Amino acid sequence: MTLRAIDYQAVLALIQSLMQEAKVVAPHQREGERQWSFEEVTEPANVCLEYTSTVLPPKKYAFPTQERFLRYELGESPKAEPIIEAEPLVLFGVHTCDIYALNCLDIAMTDEHVDPNWVARRKQMRIVGVDCLPDEYCFCASMGTATVHEGYDLFLTPVDGGYVVEVATEAGEEMLTNIPTKEATSAQVAQVKAHLNKKMQQEHKLDCDVSTLPLHFSGVADSELWEQHAERCYSCGTCNLVCPTCICYDVLEQLNLALDGGERVRVWDSCMLEEFATVATGENFREERSQRLRHRFFRKYSYLFTRYGQPYCCGCGRCVRQCLVHIDPVPILNDVIAESQKGATVRGA
Ligand code: SF4
Ligand code: SF4
Repeated sequence: MTLRAIDYQAVLALIQSLMQEAKVVAPHQREGERQWSFEEVTEPANVCLEYTSTVLPPKKYAFPTQERFLRYELGESPKAEPIIEAEPLVLFGVHTCDIYALNCLDIAMTDEHVDPNWVARRKQMRIVGVDCLPDEYCFCASMGTATVHEGYDLFLTPVDGGYVVEVATEAGEEMLTNIPTKEATSAQVAQVKAHLNKKMQQEHKLDCDVSTLPLHFSGVADSELWEQHAERCYSCGTCNLVCPTCICYDVLEQLNLALDGGERVRVWDSCMLEEFATVATGENFREERSQRLRHRFFRKYSYLFTRYGQPYCCGCGRCVRQCLVHIDPVPILNDVIAESQKGATVRGA
């Protein structure tokens, strides 16, 4: 790992130089709002590296909200061909939680069935991370995602007068060619550590070590806590749609008017929507809001955690930030933990 120091003007020069060779996307503030979104950079000075969280995660560049993935012709000689659209892309200014989430999806998208569209886009993607400070909704310290150790080429941490930049890969080294940097001083490295210490001070946190989280899910499936927390839920699906680790999608057929061919399209879906678990014969396996909320939590913190050995939640807080009624994973998880501890006491009595 190499640490360099880079000032703000040199960061602008870095973005400008990356724009010569690839599409660069970075956080931009929405006019007049405390909301940010990843957008294509047209002017480096408009990039906002001091932001809390974007509304949609950068996942949208590897797994678009809607994409055509198969083209077919019907008739006497039917044929089909995959549609894979990928281009060189630099994700600039990505937080540790979102880098963690992309790493999670690399695992899920290549397990058993390899998703060729995801893989093609990720292969052409370079990432420049940037560190942040949490707001009241973040819980990355509890989820172990306040730092990441892979999945980026450069990583910037703000210090006085600019950033300390960690050069993590050869691609990162190349990005800095012709960009003025200096060796990071010991005072700047101390500031990086102080920044991390500050980031770890989060009041919004779990009542257990994250590694034990799946254990707390055994025995709580029939708890009343799911109904209590789901009472306020509108089943709008926003929490899934802003989540950097959700990967469910629906598949639609778009037949052309002559009915002799068409395209197959996938669009993001949400397990919190009422019709999500409805099957062709009309039965709905998760008709109640509480069943859908329970499923969402079991999936992120138990099923996928157990399968892949890490939580499928990065603690970014987007779901609670964007939920109309601020349904928050942390108190729900803490209720799960309390309920499981109560059960353990009763069983041990
Ligand atoms: S965003 Fe909130 S209200 Fe909407 S489905 Fe999710 S938890 Fe329910
Ligand atoms: S469940 Fe919420 S906090 Fe966790 S990754 Fe998804 S949006 Fe972020």
